[in-house]
Amino acid sequence: MQKKQVRTRYAPSPTGNMHIGNLRTALYGYLIAKSSGGKFILRIEDTDQSRFCEGAVDLIYDTLDKVGIVCDEGPKNPGKFGPYVQSERLDIYRNHAKKLLDSGDAYYCFCTEERLQSLKNDDEFAGYDRRCRNLSPSLIKKKLHDRVPYVIRQRVPLEGYTSFVDSVYGSVTICNKEIEDQILVKADGYPTYNFANVVDDHLMGITHVVRGCEYLTSTPKYNLLYESFNWEKPLYVHLPLILGKNKDGSTEKLSKRHGAVSFKDLTDLGYLPGAIINYVAFLGWCPVENREIFSLEDLVTVFSVERIGKSPAVFDYDKLNWFNSEYIKLMSDDVFYNLSEPFVKKALKSSDYNFRKISSLLKGRISNFSEIKEKIDFLNECCDYSKELFINKKSKSGLESSQIVLKKSMDILEKIENFSHESVFDNLKKLASDLGVKINTVMWPIRVALSGLSATPGGCTDLLEILGKDESLRRIKKAIGMF
Ligand code: GLU
Repeated sequence: MQKKQVRTRYAPSPTGNMHIGNLRTALYGYLIAKSSGGKFILRIEDTDQSRFCEGAVDLIYDTLDKVGIVCDEGPKNPGKFGPYVQSERLDIYRNHAKKLLDSGDAYYCFCTEERLQSLKNDDEFAGYDRRCRNLSPSLIKKKLHDRVPYVIRQRVPLEGYTSFVDSVYGSVTICNKEIEDQILVKADGYPTYNFANVVDDHLMGITHVVRGCEYLTSTPKYNLLYESFNWEKPLYVHLPLILGKNKDGSTEKLSKRHGAVSFKDLTDLGYLPGAIINYVAFLGWCPVENREIFSLEDLVTVFSVERIGKSPAVFDYDKLNWFNSEYIKLMSDDVFYNLSEPFVKKALKSSDYNFRKISSLLKGRISNFSEIKEKIDFLNECCDYSKELFINKKSKSGLESSQIVLKKSMDILEKIENFSHESVFDNLKKLASDLGVKINTVMWPIRVALSGLSATPGGCTDLLEILGKDESLRRIKKAIGMF
């Protein structure tokens, strides 16, 4: 028998930014499809109109585009299973709900909002009490005729168990009695997620349903729907939780309180799409080999469902920084310049600087672009010096030697006409030999005087060149005044 082509889908609800968890769902769905030559489908689940967020759909496209995930079918490139936006499929859901009403697997519920609310207020609330489950056909007819608002509910069997085997979590069994007669179609005529996902996954030929583990315990009721329709069930791949680390070391579900958690927030902070997607791949999966850097294409070749774990993954910003710094190191100087330039410009108050030169000093010294501000802020302001900074064993610098070097270097630097890296270096080298000290004994105090720091991107001559003659002399003079 010919093997069925794998078809997975990413089915986001456009309710806001694309969270890291959503991105992982999209990535794993994509990898599962692509690693077996299958198709990856995008479906927009916008049936909860109250949560719809303007611009969210564009963010989904933009994110997938930036990380290189290409959908084989979706709203923009429909295949033969469209429409791919749920709000455009309302008739499809209505017809399917009608089939369930006819077969008795669903029923009209006319309970008012107030009644449902009062049930919920009960301390022992265990779901809808099934009051409308057995209304007489004549009463239903009358209520429909009188246009009493209604929802359509699933008639879940009251006895027995429903089981399925999840590809990650293994066997899951739920006692039917504990499953609520869930709403399939709401009073506004829109289907619930619980109904629409089943209808769409079937009609779109989805073979593997890949989604967060929050849907694991709802899956039996979806399977009951598949059974009511007499449809073949898909394979389920539920993904482990993603946790964030709290300040006290404890962990809980990843949320905004842990920092940036959406793809856009992370890229705004200067994380690279390739590094983000590489790290996200590791949130719940690991390869056979002991290797960490994978492009999306590499991931397609090594990914397998068997290596998805069920224990929660912890989102670790240090690890993401590590990935990002590795990607920065691999970048060409030109690409680095183009990406860092906006951050450099934003960090500096003056636009007179040589941005390319500054940028070249930063490569290899940052793990993400948002660190640039902190690294070059000293260029904006000549800081207050702490005397201790001038004392440095390694360069054999003390307070006295530093004072001498600063004074002498003022005289020398003042006279240099062409204030280039080379001429400055040659002159300072000569000063060192005239003073009979090592070059570092000259460079150290000047660097401290220029920056007020013990560590800077670039050395003394780089800073002299960047700051230029006037500003360099002003800073050195200020430092001398402090002794
Ligand atoms: N629309 C659902 C969500 O965004 C998708 C869940 C699923 O993949 O079935 O959470």
